[in-house]
Amino acid sequence: MASNEQKKIVKLNVMVHRKLNQVVFAEADKDFLDILFSFLTIPLGTIVRLLRKQSHPTVIGSLNNLHTSVENLEERRFQAEICKTMLLGTRNAYGDECRKLELNIDDTEPTSFYLCQPCASKRIGGSLLSTFDSRHSSCGSRLTPMTLRSRPNGSEVDGEDGVFVKGMATFLVTDDLQVTPLSTLATFRLLNNLGITDAVLLEKKSLDVDFEQQGPNYRSVSARTKRSFFCATIQRGTKILSLKKKCINNCKKIHLKATVRKSDKKVVYAEAGEDFVSFIFSVLTFPLGSVVELLDCSPVLGCIANLYKSVKELNVDRYLKSEDHKVLLLSPKLALQYSCNKDQPLSISEAKPHNYYYKTSSWGEAYLFDETFLDINNPGEGTVTVNLLNPKSPAPEATKAEGFVKGPAMFMVTDDLVVTPFSSISCITYLEELKVPFSDIEEKVVVIGDEEVRYPNKNYL
Ligand SMILES: [Zn+2]
Repeated sequence: MASNEQKKIVKLNVMVHRKLNQVVFAEADKDFLDILFSFLTIPLGTIVRLLRKQSHPTVIGSLNNLHTSVENLEERRFQAEICKTMLLGTRNAYGDECRKLELNIDDTEPTSFYLCQPCASKRIGGSLLSTFDSRHSSCGSRLTPMTLRSRPNGSEVDGEDGVFVKGMATFLVTDDLQVTPLSTLATFRLLNNLGITDAVLLEKKSLDVDFEQQGPNYRSVSARTKRSFFCATIQRGTKILSLKKKCINNCKKIHLKATVRKSDKKVVYAEAGEDFVSFIFSVLTFPLGSVVELLDCSPVLGCIANLYKSVKELNVDRYLKSEDHKVLLLSPKLALQYSCNKDQPLSISEAKPHNYYYKTSSWGEAYLFDETFLDINNPGEGTVTVNLLNPKSPAPEATKAEGFVKGPAMFMVTDDLVVTPFSSISCITYLEELKVPFSDIEEKVVVIGDEEVRYPNKNYL
């Protein structure tokens, strides 16, 4: 959303508790629901970025530390120059869909394509394309921005339907983001649960909901919802490391050396290699919905877990555009080119790339297009297939996804996810800051593997 755009507002009819001055529920249609559901597709790194930009910036503890650690880490420590930019500018795999929303809180620019034209003009094809403004390391040329010619993928906002939600459907949305199709039964069940037995207690109001790049803000009505639900979602960022693992069985084990305070068995910091740091940095690229999925809708996630469960329970035929849209919201994928090592814990799959083609016209104009734009039976003379370069690999033709951080290297990772290059001096200073005597510390090996974050029968990180 451009900063100079007028502040966008969505109108909503709500029922307010007269005495508590609190929203009991709202009645909403597809436009509002589409906006709410789109939050599940936004990467955690983008959320940190959006919350920092608010007029009253909100800081979500550990995730904010993780983001700041990426900002502070020297570029030479990353696998490739572009890795830092990738982590600080996380992208939404469904950005194109979200730009069709009545209001899109994600400020990420549409994905651009860059091509090595000197190599492409030799008509040899190969890995010459990137979604990042970078260099082609094989020949050293700067990549040239290209317009990708592509046909819409069928998830257009067509007719009455919204982006995710079907046509004329109307919903009841509670203050803590439980969404149910509107019905008398649902309304009275909610009122009953809240102990509201008399209509006198309720007052109808028309609200202008201002998202202020953070989510519905019922501030004018309710003091209780003052906190952004994004905060409630990820407040306990350190717990990210004790997620229910969805890792494939043969995923690589990551070893850490944890410095533990003997007196309370608390991890003070961990000494970790580039594999672990790449893994925790990659958490910034995880879409919110995939985190809720990995955490198994843990109550620690607050209202965002309610929203996720609501999507899960919605009848596809009646309320959502298709089963694919439901899957998209419940298991959102990483943006194109963002996947990390396949054998890292919590590997989330990446959006599927198209097949890309390059062609120069007889008058020398260059075109880039994908398979939706190509007549496969008549591709045209001189059409070459171009593949995506691996932005994270020092060998850009490599097809295997890589981690973000260069190795071999050691880092210090504190319990609240501050990551710095390892240094004995910083460790001693840190222990001094925390007033932990050297006699009270011991070192333990932690193995992060396929089942859980293991440390002799206990999750410390
Ligand atoms: Zn080149």
